[in-house]
Amino acid sequence: MAALGLKGVGVSRGVAIGPVRVLQHNRLNIREYTLAPSQIDDELMRFQQALRVASQQLAELRAQIPVTTSVDIASFIDSHLLMLEDSALSQVPQQLIRERRCNAEWALKLQRDALVAVFDAMDDAYLRTRKDDVEHVVTRIQRALMNERDQAGAADDLHGCIIVADDLSPADTVMMQHQGVAAFVTELGGPTSHTTILARSLGIPAVVGVQHALRYVRHDDVLVVDGSFGEVLAGLEPSALELFRKRQTADRRHQADLAKLKQLPSISRDGLPVALLANAELTEDLSAAKRVGAKGVGLFRTEFLFLNRSSLPDEQEQYLAYRKVVRSLKGAPLTIRTLDLGADKNLPSDLRIESGAEAGLNPALGARAIRLCLRDGDMFKAQLRAILRASADGPVSLMLPMIATEHEVLQALELLDQARQELIAEGRAFDESMPIGCMIEVPAAALIADALARHLDFFSIGTNDLIQYTMAADRLDHAVNYLYQPLHPGVLRLIDITLKAGRKAGIPVSMCGEMAGEPRFTRLLLGLGLREFSMQPMMLPEVKRIVQSTDVAAVERRARRALRAASAGEVERMLERINAL
Ligand code: PEP
Ligand code: MG
Repeated sequence: MAALGLKGVGVSRGVAIGPVRVLQHNRLNIREYTLAPSQIDDELMRFQQALRVASQQLAELRAQIPVTTSVDIASFIDSHLLMLEDSALSQVPQQLIRERRCNAEWALKLQRDALVAVFDAMDDAYLRTRKDDVEHVVTRIQRALMNERDQAGAADDLHGCIIVADDLSPADTVMMQHQGVAAFVTELGGPTSHTTILARSLGIPAVVGVQHALRYVRHDDVLVVDGSFGEVLAGLEPSALELFRKRQTADRRHQADLAKLKQLPSISRDGLPVALLANAELTEDLSAAKRVGAKGVGLFRTEFLFLNRSSLPDEQEQYLAYRKVVRSLKGAPLTIRTLDLGADKNLPSDLRIESGAEAGLNPALGARAIRLCLRDGDMFKAQLRAILRASADGPVSLMLPMIATEHEVLQALELLDQARQELIAEGRAFDESMPIGCMIEVPAAALIADALARHLDFFSIGTNDLIQYTMAADRLDHAVNYLYQPLHPGVLRLIDITLKAGRKAGIPVSMCGEMAGEPRFTRLLLGLGLREFSMQPMMLPEVKRIVQSTDVAAVERRARRALRAASAGEVERMLERINAL
């Protein structure tokens, strides 16, 4: 075949080379007919039997998941099992059978279309992808009604093959991982679909959203799948294939070298211990954190619990969510950050506050994060109580975002005190010495870090916002992204002031903005005195490698010199020398 390059969304890193197995889900031919009144009872029984079969199939699949696999995989199957029990899929179709006298397959189709229309109307990409789950579950019931099992790929040996499919259900993905597939390519799916999340968590290269892939590739074609860049290549000359094989080998060696680091301590060449933690917000981030050997979670963003919904989660819902995270960390430390909604993180619709954003004012400078929480004391208190209660189950710290003034810290501490008193009165357990800290991400906070340190147990530098506020350059605005300069001496000086204030007050200072996970900056930050880094889990092995290769004493002097530079460009040149040491 002629060389062919297809583009999609690379969702799981790594290069795979192998023969194609096209996974055609045999399309269901749904018949639609009206029942005679005397047939209704039988049709209802047929539907209920199909529900039982579908549920049994999923339960069997769940039982096949090895105990060593991450819990998330089982939870995807569980979510499909729960959907089978949900009245939207178990009761409404029966109503349609009874009232509109539709046959069962048709009733399911009508209900699926109605549910999909609701999901399509949502303007959130994550929720829109949940319609995939509805489709997968409905198809499973319809197959059961028609006595069909999906035979796609079942008879083939899939070891080392690249699966090309229109779509894959989480169940397909799990089964195929067992069979040792090398990569997935799908026409549908987005970066937040369950299949994508699974592929990432299973560490299988995957490219999704490759339009018309099935039109272009055939069984046994040799494909190259690059999960990092979202590329799918076919029909390559042997010499080009050889190049990719070399890259694949180098990539594997690099990953294996990094994986070996997991067991090794994070200590600099001159013997300084450096804590490497993970940032997380979803449960799959926790599995990734464990996989790379993170010491704990240095930033747990709680916004995900509040996004894409119309009402606020209550204390109990939050408590259960935080407790789940605490328990899954099995004694490793967890820093939970209180709500950082507003600006780039949308508000739930029942938290409509008067904000300048509608009047065209900049939401990043408006009522977000702690400002919003201090305005709505009840909402904030529910979260503080939930975090306190979760602290009874393991080492939890609480972190306040976007602090700019001492007054905000004092107000938050006052509310925390009230929450503690209430919990004591109610006889609920919590850790009385739970550390309380704040993010340093507003320049004013960095400049008064010495004063803030008097009230707090730790700081964590949020460079994402610290850079945008120091440089007055919106972190989302492409027009000014040239000003978004992590190495600007102004930014470095604020980091330095914060580190010094922490040292002087004897409280730990961590960094959880993206700078902490950028291996190019590791030595510079170590030289400035940073000893705790929290980052996206996938960056951790590389940062650890740099830590181990760094003689901190040797970079300190050069790092201090960078503070006196006049521009980011000048620091960039110094950085090259530091990194070459
Ligand atoms: C930061 O600002 O650096 C940070 C970690 O917070 P977020 O990215 O969630 O605003
Ligand atoms: Mg921030």
